[in-house]
Amino acid sequence: QLLSKSSKPARRTLPHKTEGDITDSASDLGHPTAPALGLPVLKKAKGHYWYPVDGPKILDACGGAAVACLGHGRRDVVKAINSQLTQYTYASYAHFKTTPVQELSDWLIKSTDGKMQKVYIMSSGSETIEAALKLALEYFLWTAQPTRTNFIAREQSYHGTTLGSLSVSGHVARRAPFTPLLQPAHFHRISACNPYRQRLPCAAGDGEETDASFVARKVAELEAAFARLGPDTVAAVVLEPVVGAALGCVPAPRGYLAAVRAVCDRHGALLILDEVMCGMGRTGVLHAWQGGGEDAAVVPDLQAVAKGFAGGYQPGSALLVGGRVAGVMEREGRTFTHGHTYQNHPVVAAAALAVQRAVEREGLLGNVRVQGELLGRLLRERLGGHPNVGDIRGKGMFWGVEFVKDKGTKEPFQPGLGVAERVHKTAVREFKVLVYHGQGCAGNGRGDHIMIMPAYTITAKLVEEIVERVASAVEEVFGRPWVV
Ligand code: PMP
Repeated sequence: QLLSKSSKPARRTLPHKTEGDITDSASDLGHPTAPALGLPVLKKAKGHYWYPVDGPKILDACGGAAVACLGHGRRDVVKAINSQLTQYTYASYAHFKTTPVQELSDWLIKSTDGKMQKVYIMSSGSETIEAALKLALEYFLWTAQPTRTNFIAREQSYHGTTLGSLSVSGHVARRAPFTPLLQPAHFHRISACNPYRQRLPCAAGDGEETDASFVARKVAELEAAFARLGPDTVAAVVLEPVVGAALGCVPAPRGYLAAVRAVCDRHGALLILDEVMCGMGRTGVLHAWQGGGEDAAVVPDLQAVAKGFAGGYQPGSALLVGGRVAGVMEREGRTFTHGHTYQNHPVVAAAALAVQRAVEREGLLGNVRVQGELLGRLLRERLGGHPNVGDIRGKGMFWGVEFVKDKGTKEPFQPGLGVAERVHKTAVREFKVLVYHGQGCAGNGRGDHIMIMPAYTITAKLVEEIVERVASAVEEVFGRPWVV
């Protein structure tokens, strides 16, 4: 008997029965029975296109879940992988140092100007978040602060599918079946940071509050969470600098990250940034925390990267460790009590290195910024006036379009209508463009959205093509009687 009589079992529900449910496309598209759901069978993929066995090619406007940052079938990357495979296919990180891992680690550290000082190469976003949580805990043991065992994350967040990363996530539907194994005692939540849905009207009655007053409210909430838990019990704050699938490409307003960093510093907690989706160039800078434009850099203590890291050519991710933690490890000769069999895999490293060098060599981050401006502008021109398009936001090759029942009140559609899924399906079936979708929830302050996240090699012509096809799909869906 696992539960004593006095302990109350946590409420468990199946995802589709959850109240205040949020789901997104991964629960549908990634399902093992996917072929039964009518998905096309893939023959090949090249550049910006998927080629199914039956039917015409499909324009890839999302790279899976923001994975294919270089597009598909790049010969240079495949060649680098093959070359590594012919030298050695595997080496245990416990027995050997390998050239690709060392070169990649050096390259990553240099890309942060030495702000991040250690690198662990892994295979998925969930693993890196899991590792970040564990490393934070161990760091506080090394530094004689064993009371720091609490983590603060945000509602409507997604940080991974394993038990630790799911515990930190505020994704109601994905957590629901597994609540008995999640850890409510150590994972706490503040509200999401979603300006479109949370900005208050101005006191004067015209317009909405400024970034500064919005950020001040968010910081006060975070401060209150520290005070409630006891500041010396908090190990880390965990968040995505630009929220991906959970909200649909929502950048933090100016000053938010710096303010969260300042709260962490004031209380001695670590800041863990989840850049699994928004990192590795997706927003136009290599690391989302580097800011760019008017946004100042905000350096994390631990950083998770994945998707665009190896661009889908291998299952690759990495945990980057900043100076505060790495310094203690260096000075005191500490070793992280952690390790996966496939950690620091040489083939993964060779793939990631080839992808990153191509991005660098071809100046693709500049292209992401330029084409990102165009993508945002065209989306707004084409869809901004649509009565069911509530918000268009994003940066670089990371744009979200949120649908609403009522533009004035921002009321989302009922999740049962599956609005985002319908846009996704219509886009792919009738207009041959693949976008990512996330379903909203009326009671949950989150609307249905689609995400547009093409490869960094995108051209202006293809940006126009994507916007045209997506807009046609939106018009097709909302023109149908079922939403009226
Ligand atoms: N964090 C974020 C922000 C993500 O978007 C995801 C995946 N969608 C993960 C973590 C988990 O990554 P993975 O699926 O590679 O385990």
